Order: sequence, then structure tokens, then C-alpha cells
Amino acid sequence: MTQATSTQNPTVISGLSSSKPKPVGLEILNLESQAYDRALSCVHCGLCLPVCPTYTQNGLESDSPRGRIYIMKGLADGMIEPNENVLKHLDLCLDCQACETICPSGVVYHELLEDTRAKLKPRRKFTFTHKLVQGIFLHIFPHPFRLKLTLLPVRIMQKVGLWRILMRSGLTKMLPSQFQKMQQMLPEDGPLWETGLEAYYPAMQNLVEGKPRAKVAMFPGCVGSVMYQDINRKTIQLLTHLGCEVVVPRQATCCGAIHHHAGEDKGARDFAKANINAYFNVKNLPDFIVNNIAGCGAGLKEFGHLLKNDPAYAEKAAAFASKVRDVCQLIDELNPPPPTHPVKKTVTYHHACHLLHAQKAGDPPLRLLRRVADLKVLPLQEADFCCGAAGTYNLTEPEMAMQLAERKIRHIQETGASIVVMSNLGCAMQIASEAKRLGVKLTTEHPVEILYQAYLGH
Ligand code: SF4
Ligand code: SF4
Repeated sequence: MTQATSTQNPTVISGLSSSKPKPVGLEILNLESQAYDRALSCVHCGLCLPVCPTYTQNGLESDSPRGRIYIMKGLADGMIEPNENVLKHLDLCLDCQACETICPSGVVYHELLEDTRAKLKPRRKFTFTHKLVQGIFLHIFPHPFRLKLTLLPVRIMQKVGLWRILMRSGLTKMLPSQFQKMQQMLPEDGPLWETGLEAYYPAMQNLVEGKPRAKVAMFPGCVGSVMYQDINRKTIQLLTHLGCEVVVPRQATCCGAIHHHAGEDKGARDFAKANINAYFNVKNLPDFIVNNIAGCGAGLKEFGHLLKNDPAYAEKAAAFASKVRDVCQLIDELNPPPPTHPVKKTVTYHHACHLLHAQKAGDPPLRLLRRVADLKVLPLQEADFCCGAAGTYNLTEPEMAMQLAERKIRHIQETGASIVVMSNLGCAMQIASEAKRLGVKLTTEHPVEILYQAYLGH
């Protein structure tokens, strides 16, 4: 395993200048002017290199933020040919935004990357397996009914014991790696058919002068409402216990992040508009729109950017984004009384990139966990490094994702804790499945599970 830390300024960067160079006969990528201009603010200092998971893993400048900015600028100007070798460096980027957190020049890296990916998509030639996996991402994952239907045969096999036999038979090893990974990530048990949430939950306790502390609209997520519904229920019960009134809009849909990261911006915008209609049509406009999956939260907070050029939605999208909170961020803001029940556990905490870097809300979960009596939270080395989940990255770039997960699990083991807490379903599935593959005994928990225990006592 290579773990590079150099920040030397390579010659490959020297072509970056503040005016558009003359193309060398290649097709120009018409990037959004804002994304392009922000790329120009890179001063090539290299401060982002030691925080980049892919660069610190393989030591390649072209797999660093600085190298990728150079590549994207070259592609935009028609100075670099978009061949598969070049594009592999962009595919390998996790879009974790660690480089943005540290960048002193304010480079908004993710906008540049996402716009480049969207503009390149029509020109790329993908394999059949890639297209099939993309089809599953785009047409099954964002739709809870379809996802439940797809999972039903698996759940039936799990209930009658056939699934375990199938796993032991080794037959699944014949599947393409992406499908093996999907099968690995699937929890070994779950309800045959997950039920939906109620539309309204009144505030139960901790009211202020007899009134709810806040009106909250819950965002249950698409995959979340199928695989994480128990956490959704605990989130709602925790919030009502802390004095919030909670509604769950019936028309809530996927946040569009899967589409956005796959370069399918039209689909992402359609999901954003559907959610804006759903959340702004509830009887009383909510004070907050709350979610418990960092990836979804980051997607919801991007609505303003995504729809900024749509005259009918730009204003509403910005208003929507300003109301979005991660559940821990909201509880921290509401500043409720401290929890009353001790939780005797030793855990460590992994920062989900989409909460820490994308939403800049890494502190609230830790602040809340520190208020829980008897809970020991051990420090984790590289807690702010991506675990390799990164949306659907672990399915599209399994090799790098596996290396990053191994690195994460090694650090977790070094703490001595056998429970790792995190605010993202994708990280939980990635770390749990990789720990299982490695034979490491490790449990993942959401901060809500611990806070639920600490406030409600069971
Ligand atoms: S830290 Fe920012 S300015 Fe420095 S090389 Fe990285 S992206 Fe460029
Ligand atoms: S987004 Fe993450 S993986 Fe991509 S260049 Fe930045 S730090 Fe590296």
C-alpha cells in the first residue's frame, strides 16, 4: 500500500493559466463558466494532496485534486484528449470533497468534477456490465417500490435459509464483481416488505410553552426507506421526544444524488423539483427538512445550485436547501436538555465525507455523543478519510474502494473499539461488508441509535 504525502508542485500543472488557451484541434467541453472560473483559482499549492484518499493511496499526481483539476481544465480547453486512460483518473475520484475543506483558494472542486462528468457522459463508451449496473442505479435504487420488489426473492430465500446455502456454494463468485459487491452489502436479514411511515407525528415531550420546538419535515430517502427504515423511525421518535412535530410528505422521492453523481443532471433536476413540490405543499411549511443519510443531505443542500438557472424553481430551490439539516445538526441547533440514560458502550466515530466535507457539519454528531453518560468515544486515525463507499463508487471502482475500506478498518481495529458510529448508510454498508469479508468483528451504528437509547432509555 502506497501512502504518499508529498505536496511538490509538478510540471504537469504548469500549463494552467488564467486565460483560455488555444485548443489543439480537440473538441472543447463547454463547462459552466462558474465551474471553469473556479478551477482557475487553483494556485497549485498542493495542500490538498495529503488529504486526498486516492493520491495518498497510489501516489499518482493525476489521482490528486491538483492533477485532476489540470486534467479537467485541459479537457475543457480541448488541450487534452479524453481517452480512457485520462478519464480513468476522473472515474477514480471519490468526489469526497476533502480537497475543498482544506483548499486555501476556495476551489469548488465538486462542481467542476460533476459538470465535467455530465458533459463527458454522451461521448463515453461503456461496457455492457457497466450499463447494466448503471441501469440498476438509475432505475431501481431511486424507486422504493421497485427496490422492494427486486429484494423480495432475496428476502424470501433468507427467510427459508436458501440464501445462506447459495452464499456458501460459491456460485455467486461467478457474477461480475459489481454484483458480488451488491450481494456482499446486503444485510443478512430484513423485513420481507418494508412498510411506510405515517404522514404525521405530534411532538411528545420537551415542548416550549406548550408548543412544538420546531415543525420538521422528514426526508426518508429512497434506499433509506427500504434498508434504513428502522433508523428513520428512531429519528422520528427521537425528534418528537425532543419536542418536534414531524410530517412525512407522501410525495417525497429520491434526492437525485445517484443521478447527479452519474452525470445524469436532467434526472437529478427532475427529482429536485418533485421534492420541492412535495415539501412545500405540506399544510404548514416546515421550519426544517431533516434527513439522516449524509449522502442524501448533501444532495438536498445542492438543490439551489442544481436549479439556479430554472426561473420557475431557482428561488424555491434555494429556500428548500436553506431548510435542510442532518438530524444531528438539527438536534444540536435545538439545544435540548442533556440525555438522561447512560449508554455503556465503547465506540469510535467515522466522519462521513458527505457530512463533514460536503455539508460542513462534522461536529454536531460528536458534540451530541459526548453528552451521553458512560459512552466512550475513542479517537480514530484518518477519521475524516473516505471509506470507499462514496455513493455508488464501491460498485463502479471496487478495487480502490476495497483498498480504502481496508485502510479504514485497520485504523478502526487500532482503536480497540468493536463499534464504529457514522451518519451515512453507504459508509455503514461498505464498512460492515468489508469487515465481514476480512473476518473482522465490527458493528456499525448510526448516532441516532445511540441518542435514541440515551434519551428514550431503550
Ligand atoms: S489546495 Fe486548492 S489551490 Fe492548492 S492545489 Fe489543491 S485545489 Fe489547488
Ligand atoms: S474529491 Fe476526494 S478523491 Fe477526489 S480529488 Fe478531492 S480529495 Fe481526492
